Amino acid sequence: MALDQRCIVIGGGIAGAACARALADRGWQVKVLDTAGDPCAAASGVPLGVVSCHASPDDNPLSQLTRAGMQYTLAFARQHLIHGQDWSQSGVLERRLNEADHAKKPWQAPTEDSVWFSHVQLADAQQLSAAGLSSHNSNDLWQPQGAWIKPLALVRALLSHDNISFMGLHEVENMQKSAATGEWQLRIKHHISIPSMGSSHTYTTESAPHVVIATGAQTPDFLNQVLYEPDMGLHPISGQVSWGLQPPALDPVLPRFAVNGHGSFVAHVPTSDGHAWYSGATFERNNASTEVSVKAHDHNFERLSQLLPAIAGALTVQWQDQASLNAWVGVRCASVNRLPKAGPLNEQRLAGLHVLSALGSRGLTTALLCAQLVADGIEGKTPTLSDALRKAMQCDLDSA
Ligand SMILES: Cc1cc2nc3c(=O)[nH]c(=O)nc-3n(C[C@H](O)[C@H](O)[C@H](O)COP(=O)(O)OP(=O)(O)OC[C@H]3O[C@@H](n4cnc5c(N)ncnc54)[C@H](O)[C@@H]3O)c2cc1C
Repeated sequence: MALDQRCIVIGGGIAGAACARALADRGWQVKVLDTAGDPCAAASGVPLGVVSCHASPDDNPLSQLTRAGMQYTLAFARQHLIHGQDWSQSGVLERRLNEADHAKKPWQAPTEDSVWFSHVQLADAQQLSAAGLSSHNSNDLWQPQGAWIKPLALVRALLSHDNISFMGLHEVENMQKSAATGEWQLRIKHHISIPSMGSSHTYTTESAPHVVIATGAQTPDFLNQVLYEPDMGLHPISGQVSWGLQPPALDPVLPRFAVNGHGSFVAHVPTSDGHAWYSGATFERNNASTEVSVKAHDHNFERLSQLLPAIAGALTVQWQDQASLNAWVGVRCASVNRLPKAGPLNEQRLAGLHVLSALGSRGLTTALLCAQLVADGIEGKTPTLSDALRKAMQCDLDSA
């Protein structure tokens, strides 16, 4: 029997958009529902992100996933985004400043037969000097393929497909499988705003044989309260980015590539108001707050002072001026093993229900690859990822 190629995706962030696109490119008709009016209303609304791989000498699963994942993000960006405007393959200087990194074996320049060969090099004196750093440290790495990207541009491009319809102000409140049709039926609170009468809502329903839950930091609540399922140990991590418009006098001083390692720093990013720099983000485990705080700004500055002392010095005056320092706060969703959750929720009890969540701090790097894994699962195809990696990300522990 031909597969019924209709799917509903709950969540219009990078996870939902990437799943919708992976399916739409395969011929599926996809509806993307989100509580908010527009895509990128939550974590994916971060104004800027770094796309790079997690470098580990033992090549742990997060390294394998990010190395493979960034190839998907970069390939899509090359095809659909404007280089220099929406993203830039600027390279990433990765400073390994944590105590734990020093305790590990120092990096050797990867040889041609190493999995790291085209991904990681030792940073050279010129790169360090361009970041205002003088001492050479073998813990400083250079990722030539690394990039910065604007998530909103990426998500809009992913959703821009004839087979995808985005339905904003559609909050999924309830869902169950219809015994009559075998399809998932979603009860949706449709938020409406009536001029001069304030906001109100109506209820509608949508149904499809396949549903993907891509609800970011709201996934644990969605699993508990809508599906009465365990939350898989998913937890929120709040983060604040500090950013400012770049004074032209600092153009020659600020690095033209992204710097990562103890928070991150990216400058020379074009915005409608001129070039901007971004620094952060904070990392507040088990915290779902979206409040801007001065403490978080201070913490970002302290970490920038360690990551790039000369750059922190150059930005001190601007950082102390509340009027020219801006903030963005969002909440990541993370899992216990720091890997995404991707795949069917429970093939026996909840057939047709899939998840892509817990993208943590690397969602822009891994979402497009993970979405292919979810789409492969929906189509019953053999996934392109190794068994070990797939198992490390699976939701359906009954089939482990
Ligand atoms: C401060 C910060 C900095 C970051 N920096 C980077 C970086 O440099 N590089 C990188 O790769 N990643 C970075 N990330 C991580 C990345 O942004 C996230 O991993 C990613 O955006 C998560 O996407 P998502 O689609 O899973 O969740 P979200 O973007 O949070 O989307 C979930 C969506 O689901 C919707 N939703 C929830 N419940 C319902 C419901 N019941 N019905 C309908 N809709 C619902 C929400 O409205 C929301 O729009 C950063 C994150 C933060 C917070």
